[in-house]
Amino acid sequence: MVVGVLVEISNQNVDRVFEYHVSEEYTSQMKVGIRVLVPFGKMELEGFVLEIKEKAETEHALKDILGVVDSTIVLNSELLELGKWMKEKTISTLISCYQVMLPKALKAKNGSNISIQFDTYYRLNENCSLEGLNSSQKKIVDLVLEKEIVSRKELLGISSSSLKTLLRKNILIEEKKEHYRLVYKEQDFVKKTLTPMQEKVVDSVIHGEVKPYLLYGVTGSGKTEVYMEMIDFYLQQGKTSIVLVPEISLTPQMVQRFRERFGDRIAALHSALSDGEKYDEWRRICRGEASIVIGARSAIFAPLENIGIIIIDEEHSDSYKQSDPAPRYHAKDVAIERSHYHHCPVVMGSATPSLEAMARAQKGVYSYLELPERVNGKGLPEVEIVDMNVAMKKSRGHFSPTLLSQIEDRLGKKEQVILLLNRRGYSSFVTCKNCGYTFKCPHCDISLTYHKSSNTLRCHYCGYGEKVYTKCPSCGENSLNNLGVGTQKIEEELSEIFPTARILRMDYDTTSRKGMHEEMIASFQRQEYDILLGTQMVAKGLDFSQVTLVGVINADTSLNIPDFRSSENTFSLLCQVAGRSGRAEKKGSVVIQTFNPDHYAIRLVQKQDYPAFYETEMNLRKQLKYPPYYYLCSIRISGKDALLLFDEAMKIKRSLERNLENVIILGPNSGNLFRINNIFRYHILIKYRKEDALYEILPKIMDHYKTNPKIKVDIDFNPSQMM
Ligand code: ADP
Ligand code: ZN
Repeated sequence: MVVGVLVEISNQNVDRVFEYHVSEEYTSQMKVGIRVLVPFGKMELEGFVLEIKEKAETEHALKDILGVVDSTIVLNSELLELGKWMKEKTISTLISCYQVMLPKALKAKNGSNISIQFDTYYRLNENCSLEGLNSSQKKIVDLVLEKEIVSRKELLGISSSSLKTLLRKNILIEEKKEHYRLVYKEQDFVKKTLTPMQEKVVDSVIHGEVKPYLLYGVTGSGKTEVYMEMIDFYLQQGKTSIVLVPEISLTPQMVQRFRERFGDRIAALHSALSDGEKYDEWRRICRGEASIVIGARSAIFAPLENIGIIIIDEEHSDSYKQSDPAPRYHAKDVAIERSHYHHCPVVMGSATPSLEAMARAQKGVYSYLELPERVNGKGLPEVEIVDMNVAMKKSRGHFSPTLLSQIEDRLGKKEQVILLLNRRGYSSFVTCKNCGYTFKCPHCDISLTYHKSSNTLRCHYCGYGEKVYTKCPSCGENSLNNLGVGTQKIEEELSEIFPTARILRMDYDTTSRKGMHEEMIASFQRQEYDILLGTQMVAKGLDFSQVTLVGVINADTSLNIPDFRSSENTFSLLCQVAGRSGRAEKKGSVVIQTFNPDHYAIRLVQKQDYPAFYETEMNLRKQLKYPPYYYLCSIRISGKDALLLFDEAMKIKRSLERNLENVIILGPNSGNLFRINNIFRYHILIKYRKEDALYEILPKIMDHYKTNPKIKVDIDFNPSQMM
């Protein structure tokens, strides 16, 4: 028997199938999709069996495989095909595509460290005599007789020598059963009756066409409830589901709601789980013991059979795109590809859909669904925008009088407050502390980034540069800075102003310990705190009934991130956080402090007017030739020799120009990460409308450089940020 094996080595050169001979002792275990150990040069490597055949194609003498790593298949035929598709789509190695699908515990270098844990059980040998047992042996036998099967734990405290004797005499039989590290308890659950609007959305999907759906539902419109109802429908038909969430450790409340309803049919692929726990969850999925998988990006590769529906919550989130390392895939594309195989719908939900998704919905590529109202019938919270250019003078620390008086009001009423300190994009750009002025590229409308080494401001899309000013060109003040304030500082100010308020600070520092985040959310829910102060993590998915005020301390920072999506991301962040207010009986309000009260991304948050934002932003994207009018593809060229690098980058650019029509090619330019660890990098950005020609030329370029040790070329389609 001969097998074709893809070895686990990340090297463009080796990314193909090698043939090995299978000796007699292993032939019965051979299956496509298992891993084997093979000799490779002087190394021993693990690899995936991709084909089994009688005869080799090569004339060379074949080496023998050295062993079998898995007794069961780790990549089924669907996932094997999916990997090939992903390789083509992202122009990356096949092995990297398979590796990204598997839990870390299964990766070659980790395999030996993470074990499957077993529990030991005993049952009675039916063909044995029970004569002549002593009292302690009899005690064990009686227990086993009564319960049929008894675990070692249940026998603690009983003489272990008696147990050994019983085993030796073949009266008891020992059995090993896999033990999962996580245990879930059944919970009480009262099903909610869907509103007619929710009902309609559910019906459209489960009885409608099998295709992708975009669900635009304002915050608190009951999207999560809708997802669960759809999942339940497919569950009743014996089908499975995948639910993607942006960052699962940040959405404990959502997972909790799923657990209440579906118990241990859920497998949650948490980033906070240990590798061992993840491995256990993955095995439960493989065995069909879990039929609903909730997780972040890579959960899209869950080895489920018979998928009934794939749900992508917070569809607009850039966490669904893997930027580094390759394969640079988008979970949404993978979801749609898997849905073709399973012939199932994909539902993408958001209160602020990405422009790409909305544009596709308008073209009919996706079906469009909406939940335009909140479940509680109270309407969206009232939003007040505070112009800090004016309010600054009367502020205490970073708090305007408006925000302070509202906080005071809620403290008095024993209602809760969420405060957001927007730290997205801190310190990469230069802004004026006095007037909020930010330097932008005149060609790309992107914030310029400060480059310390050359003391210049640069556009990292097109390379435009200008010298650094000391005075603000707008107000003339000497107050340019690129440093932001931290949550700790805000907490100090707050406790000085409201000495008796109980403040809970939530940021990456205070939540680094495992389980801390969940604990904080639970204690805020129990109303042990009055104010929850935090970074972006307080904006997502939280559902507290007592929160009636949301305050945004600084709306602007994310507006200045050097990214063409900065307005979209800001609008979306502000709508998300605003959506935490007034979700239950009491109506909520929101106060947003900003230096740019007239910026459309902020102004339109006032009515949480997504349609108007969409229209405005689409116009700009059209003018500046950004997605969704043009697609982007970023090419990164990196290496140690900066001069050589630039030459090669220019060659690549010229070759692109010769081979592509109707595209715009920017660069090569060095990003704000020009040099990392003495590796230099250049970027070329391609704006294109049709991908066919790109898929011809780019693999050729990759091929050309794959044997060149001095130059590394990486490709990123639809980059979520510049590499
Ligand atoms: P979204 O995901 O759109 O923000 P959720 O599904 O979290 O909305 O719903 C908002 C709140 O309303 C939650 O507390 C949820 O439990 C509640 N809710 C949702 N649907 C219903 C319903 N049909 N009846 C009663 N309460 C509901
Ligand atoms: Zn530019």
